[in-house]
Amino acid sequence: MLCELCGKDVPFTRSVVIGGARLEACPECAKFGEEKGSSHSEGSAGGNRTVIEQRLERRQKRMGTKDVYAQAKTVEIIEDYGKVIREARQSKGMDLDQFSDSINEKKGTIAKIESNKLIPDDKLAKKIERALDIKLFDTVSAGLVQSAGGSGNKMTLGDFLKK
Ligand SMILES: [Zn+2]
Repeated sequence: MLCELCGKDVPFTRSVVIGGARLEACPECAKFGEEKGSSHSEGSAGGNRTVIEQRLERRQKRMGTKDVYAQAKTVEIIEDYGKVIREARQSKGMDLDQFSDSINEKKGTIAKIESNKLIPDDKLAKKIERALDIKLFDTVSAGLVQSAGGSGNKMTLGDFLKK
């Protein structure tokens, strides 16, 4: 079972309500929410603010503007790198043997990478990029998430829990 908050793989999750959303969370994260079906749900939506919402808001004020987060960028390997590599290799008319030979890697390694079972390290990824003339890295902004239907900009719970 994957915790929907921190993404950890745990033996079991608990249904909790956090910030109005129902989530499956690991026991660790469940502490931040209300157990689903607890009897003391009071009032209408919006009237009853959860502790975590208040803490997020306080933290956000401390951190200054949301621009801090807009500027936080990281470079990550693209999600479908395997497919991109395979298609580029095929379009150059190389089979796995030829390609792995050409960059001095084991065929098995390349096969695993092409099926997204193995993430190439930076060095290997760059080598593949050069050999096939493709881009495997993407710049993503970290922690900038639009909350659907929420009021204004919010940090995500995930951000809050990680820090
Ligand atoms: Zn968790």
